[in-house]
Amino acid sequence: MAEFDLPEGVQVTLNEGAAVELTEIAQLYWEASGVDPVSRRPVWVRAARDIDSDSWASSAHVAAAAGCTATAGDYACSACGQPLTLTSRQTLADAASGLKPRCRTCSPAFERQVGKLLGPEAASNADGRRRHAESQAVAAAERRANAEAQRSRQEDMSKRRATAIADRYPIDEFDAADLVAAADFEARAGALAVITAGGTSDGLVRGIPVHDGSIAPTRDLASRLALGSARSARLLQVHPGSPEDGFVFEGIHLTDRWYPANVHFYAGGAGGLPERWTTLVDEVRASLDLGSLDREVDDLVEMARQVVAGEVVRYLTFRFEDHNLPDPLEEHADHVRIIADRGAARYSIGHLYTAAWMAARDAAASYQKHSHQSKADAVTYGVRQFERLLQKFIDGEFKLREPYAEDKKNLPLSALTNVVFSQILGLNPMVSSIAHVEQAVAFLRDRQDRCIHALPERHDMIEAIRTRIDEIDPVIFRRALALGEDEPPARCGESCILIGIAPASRDLGRFYDRVVARIGGRDAVIVTSEASELSNSVWGTAGDAALAALLTLVLPVQFSDL
Ligand SMILES: [Zn+2]
Ligand SMILES: [Zn+2]
Repeated sequence: MAEFDLPEGVQVTLNEGAAVELTEIAQLYWEASGVDPVSRRPVWVRAARDIDSDSWASSAHVAAAAGCTATAGDYACSACGQPLTLTSRQTLADAASGLKPRCRTCSPAFERQVGKLLGPEAASNADGRRRHAESQAVAAAERRANAEAQRSRQEDMSKRRATAIADRYPIDEFDAADLVAAADFEARAGALAVITAGGTSDGLVRGIPVHDGSIAPTRDLASRLALGSARSARLLQVHPGSPEDGFVFEGIHLTDRWYPANVHFYAGGAGGLPERWTTLVDEVRASLDLGSLDREVDDLVEMARQVVAGEVVRYLTFRFEDHNLPDPLEEHADHVRIIADRGAARYSIGHLYTAAWMAARDAAASYQKHSHQSKADAVTYGVRQFERLLQKFIDGEFKLREPYAEDKKNLPLSALTNVVFSQILGLNPMVSSIAHVEQAVAFLRDRQDRCIHALPERHDMIEAIRTRIDEIDPVIFRRALALGEDEPPARCGESCILIGIAPASRDLGRFYDRVVARIGGRDAVIVTSEASELSNSVWGTAGDAALAALLTLVLPVQFSDL
């Protein structure tokens, strides 16, 4: 008899001939802790699914039937009338519910299953399965240990990589105003594009995308400006806490290659990150005020031209892909850029959009119409069409209508384009050509053309020569004229008042040489100086300029360098 608690009315006889493991399963299966007061059903100590009979490749109730015979003597088999031997807990429940279950002897299919567990082969198979399970458990434990070791190696490597990043990119302290003052136009415009595209509340920009057109219309521009120039000028800096996947490592060695989209950036300057950011925004904005760009007009116009060309190339790609055609840049990058550059020199983005739109439409139509044509051929046709259309614009064969508007939803203009046109120039980027840009900067060019030199008053110069004639050595006076002829001071531009010093000095030198023998050096100096007024008729100010230049040599205390 079994030595464990059984359900009421059930007797269990362990099968002495069965493997010990089977009798153990039988015990686990039939053990009950009492009767449920409501349902009057046995309360099993454990659920059948929790009993491990896997090594026997059978369900728990079959393994339990191999390990014992459980009999519910209160019930009879509906087939043979003998006391009901139980195939499972369910048979007991069925009998209690008034159903008519069969005993084990009258359930031959069941008994065959049970029989398979009782032969020597079954036991050895079970042993094999158990050993297999054990070795699997060992292997699993090894795998876990390996994974753990690898994790800790990786953690170690991560730590060393993080240290390498932090060492390479320390946080610097600079005066933000100094940084901005030293930064060239590209660096400042690039920084403002990043500022405009990706705001930050904590002063840390998490990745700068260079591919998607958000910063600048082309990847080249975005990389060169936002990451090249702005970073070189220290306006944007790589944060030492940037994630490892922002950089290319060889083992634990940090290479110079990195992924701008993953690296974290902060603003050059001093203090906390949010404070740095706000200061940089203010300084950069102020530095790009149109009125202060006298010396950077050419840089500004060149960048306007580049963003127009870039936006058009970007739109062309967008239109072709919209027609399910390949990106023209894949096969025709150089050609497309040349066409776009040619267009950008004359037309606004909105007008160039027209040509790009039509070229993509024509390429798609050609592909539809010619069944033999490949998509690549259609793209080649489209690019040529883009070129032809532009030529028609230029030749006046195609009348330009209203420029296209920005496709704000699908292809918003990049931040750099808005910075250059809207923020700096105060122009609408879609409708403004380079001619409009030149108009907007004309006042700067005028200022640029103005001569920076100022000449002393003629009256003061003559007065000084007359009153200080005793201090002037005529030989040095003559040498100063020779120097003015051979090495005149540098001019500042086309309208510089120093123009004409060389010929004027040459003429005055000859004049001096003619008169000096008759009237002496002292009077020759005075007469030659007076005569310089005649040279003004040639260049406007040439005589005064020649006189001013020589005075810096003969009376250096009173007249400083031009
Ligand atoms: Zn029976
Ligand atoms: Zn000048």
